[in-house]
Amino acid sequence: MSAVLPDRLREQAAALDASDPLRHCRDLYLPADGLVAYLDGNSLGRPLRATAERITRLVEHDWGTRLIRSWDEQWMELPLRLGDRIGEVCLGAAPDQTVVGDSTTVMLYKLLRAAVAAAGPERPEIVLDTENFPTDRYVAEGIAAETGARLVWVEPDPAKGVTPDLVTDALTERTGVVLLSHVAYKSAWVADLPEITRLAHAAGALVLWDLCHSVGVLRTDLDAHGVDLAVGCTYKFLGGGPGAPAFGYVAARHQERLRQPIQGWMGHAEPFVMGPGYRAGAGMRGFISGTPPVLGMVGIEDTVDLIESVGLDAVQDKAVGLGRYVIDAVDEVLGSHGVRVVSPPDDARRGGHVTLAHPRFREVYRQLWDQDVVPDFREPDGIRLGLSPLSTSYAEVAEALLRIEALLSD
Ligand SMILES: *Cc1c(COP(=O)(O)O)cnc(C)c1O
Repeated sequence: MSAVLPDRLREQAAALDASDPLRHCRDLYLPADGLVAYLDGNSLGRPLRATAERITRLVEHDWGTRLIRSWDEQWMELPLRLGDRIGEVCLGAAPDQTVVGDSTTVMLYKLLRAAVAAAGPERPEIVLDTENFPTDRYVAEGIAAETGARLVWVEPDPAKGVTPDLVTDALTERTGVVLLSHVAYKSAWVADLPEITRLAHAAGALVLWDLCHSVGVLRTDLDAHGVDLAVGCTYKFLGGGPGAPAFGYVAARHQERLRQPIQGWMGHAEPFVMGPGYRAGAGMRGFISGTPPVLGMVGIEDTVDLIESVGLDAVQDKAVGLGRYVIDAVDEVLGSHGVRVVSPPDDARRGGHVTLAHPRFREVYRQLWDQDVVPDFREPDGIRLGLSPLSTSYAEVAEALLRIEALLSD
């Protein structure tokens, strides 16, 4: 690499940071001592200062002082209230269709199981893809074993993702549910959610979108596109903190008919009557199972508020900008080392991360962590750079790329 290249890369990054309309957001995060670059916000988002304060207030006031009274005062409604906030700000969902609770895995199980039951014995096929996140595949396998549903596997190009053509080929008059991720966790490929949803509906099937890597960074407009069901993470781009629960979305038109399988007392129409038989609560309340994980849940709201204040479009624009910067810089800085960009070059088809591949990346990634440069590793040879628009600077990205270059030059 020529000696002027690092300077040019850093200058470019500084100019992009200076004109970044979201640059003020970075100061809202808790500082991380010694950190050079954090590029894994799509596995665990950084905490906002406001979230640290909110959790302290929760422990000292809501829990410490109000004690059990807080359930009546605010916590019983929290899964629905927070769900509505995520729906409004991030999903394009009208109120009363989104609930927060359970891990993504469990929420996915509940909604997929409900969808398979609603599709009925005439439509026993679940369409899904071999590149989806493991939990999605494993949950579907379990449901197939439990119900006799048949899994119809789509095999996308791993560097890309599921296209409408591939889905069309998999759909039959026996398809009950199509289960896909909106943004592929490895490649960041953005599936054509409106078109695939339309195709599934034309074939008489329901769609369940996994939004783990899109929520808080890409628009999804679930209501406008007629999506049936969706789940997503809150500890990635929504900054809810380690183990923060998932959200589930069920379109209003399906809520009456769909029955989720984990019939707990908190989803009952009258939990505190503690009566003999289960009667599902109305609307999204019926999709709750047990006691809401309040401690894990409260942190989500600060990031949702922040996204609302800057606008989701501005967040999405910066994700595109950061991705573009990485792809152009890799060409210049790492191309001669044989590093490949595995993510889509097309800005419209790429989510909030960029995955690079090189045979030495398993070892390089460990060395990067030791140097306080923190990306993610994905089998077999991928370094995944998570680009969180609210907390990631162009300068951080430049430093990470230069460290990768230095390690590959060793
Ligand atoms: C991160 C992720 C999950 C995580 O599931 P958990 O139950 O929260 O561990 C599920 N699906 C996708 C696509 C993911 O990216």
